[in-house]
Amino acid sequence: MVVNRFDPETLVLLGRLSIAGTDSAVWEELWNELYHRHDSAVACAALPELAAIAAGGVPGDRYRAVSLAGALLAAADPYTAEIRDRYAEDICALLTEVGSELAAGGPAIDSEPVVFLDRVHAMLTFEDAAGWSHRLLELVEAELEIECPVCWAAMTMHIGASGSFTCTSGYPLDKVTKRQLIPANPDQLTGLGARLRRLAVAGRQATIARQLTFLFGHAVCTENGHEFTPADALAAMP
Ligand SMILES: [Zn+2]
Repeated sequence: MVVNRFDPETLVLLGRLSIAGTDSAVWEELWNELYHRHDSAVACAALPELAAIAAGGVPGDRYRAVSLAGALLAAADPYTAEIRDRYAEDICALLTEVGSELAAGGPAIDSEPVVFLDRVHAMLTFEDAAGWSHRLLELVEAELEIECPVCWAAMTMHIGASGSFTCTSGYPLDKVTKRQLIPANPDQLTGLGARLRRLAVAGRQATIARQLTFLFGHAVCTENGHEFTPADALAAMP
C-alpha cells in the first residue's frame, strides 16, 4: 500500500514549487529527493503538486514537472495501478500538458532530441502505454541493446550515420556479422509507430522520425536469422 511518508525537508521543497516560477536548484533537489532518495511509489504522492505546476506554471517549469512526474510514475511498479487510480485527475492534467508541448512542435530541426524523447516517454507513461518507452531515449545514442524475441540472442542495433543494422554484441564492428535493418515505409506505419513518427515530424525531429522507421521496420536475428520488428523485441524484453 502507498502511504505519504515525506520528511520535512521534502515537504519544504514541494512548498517552494510555485506557478509563478521555481528556482532550478529546487528542481534539482526535488529530483534528488523524490527520484533518487524516495521509493518511487512513495514519491508519487508529489504528483498533485507536479500536476498543478504542469497545468499552471511557467513554460520551463511545466516541462520539468512533466518530466519528473513521468519518471516517478514509470518507476512506481508494482504499485502503479493503485497510484494511477489515486492520482487519476493529476495524471490526466499531466497528460494534457505534455500533449500540448508535443503538439507545439520544436524550435528547429533536430533540436533538443532528449527533451522530445523524454516528453514522448512521459506521455506514454501517463497513458499507461508501451511500458518499454524509456528505451526510446537510447535513440539519441543511435544504439540499442536488444534481444531476438524468438531465441533471445543478444544483439546491438545501430540506427545512425554509420548505417542501420543489427550485429552481435561485444565485438569490434569490423569483426561482427551485420544484418541490415530495413525501414518501414512511413506511409505504411500503423498504430504506435505511425503515431510516434507523426509526433517526431511535428516536433521537427527529422533524425528521430527516420530512426522510428527502422525501429518499427524489419530486423534479422544475428544468430539464427529470425525476422522481427525491433519495437516488438523491446516490448518483449523484461
Ligand atoms: Zn533469433
